[in-house]
Amino acid sequence: MIVETHRCITYGDKAIEFEIIRSSRKTLDISVHPNRTVTVKAPIDALLEEIDRRVKNHARWILKQQNYFSQFEPRTPPRQYVSGETHLYLGRQYRLKVQQSAQSSVKLKGRFLTVETPQPDNNDMTRELLENWYLEKARLKFEERLDICFAAFKRLGCDRPPLQIRQLSKRWGSLTASGTMILNRDLIRASSRCIDYVVTHELCHLKHPDHSPDFYNFLSSIMLDWEYRKSKLEQMLI
Ligand SMILES: [Zn+2]
Repeated sequence: MIVETHRCITYGDKAIEFEIIRSSRKTLDISVHPNRTVTVKAPIDALLEEIDRRVKNHARWILKQQNYFSQFEPRTPPRQYVSGETHLYLGRQYRLKVQQSAQSSVKLKGRFLTVETPQPDNNDMTRELLENWYLEKARLKFEERLDICFAAFKRLGCDRPPLQIRQLSKRWGSLTASGTMILNRDLIRASSRCIDYVVTHELCHLKHPDHSPDFYNFLSSIMLDWEYRKSKLEQMLI
């Protein structure tokens, strides 16, 4: 059985993503960590509706804490989508080249990511062309990596999870209660090794829904160097 351990509630126009850690305790406890992730420690039998309600009641406080911690995080300068900027794709840096052309296209050539557009001065259009290109690449690449990583899980007798790609603000991926794998669109900017780490982590939830020691033992038995890959992913500025 897969238990939904990664949840999300909305508060106004904000989304609060959180992880539930169940144990033999009597009360609910909400923590906001310096990396802005939120965990809820809950009794084993606490209802999801009750947990959601409690998170909603504490939403203002959670957002305030996240805001406080965000000032300590390194920042990537906002992208302008102009020639000369660097953009990541599969863990490598490419220099953006925006060129005028009657037809729109995006191509990788050597160390350059070339965007051809009828309106090279229209940064929004360049951004859209680039985002669509990333999404198209993500669809192909993520399916390929999931197929490859799933080979180690076939013996569990589970079906290969269907895949969805979304824009997530603070997570690289999750496995829903119904067994769908959700991957962050921006993961296409990371190397294949880092993509495989996220996919494998989520696949391990087919067997262990939580982050118990058994989960990490299982993960290590399948991917020995997962901690190294995780740290590489965390150091990446996307
Ligand atoms: Zn997890």
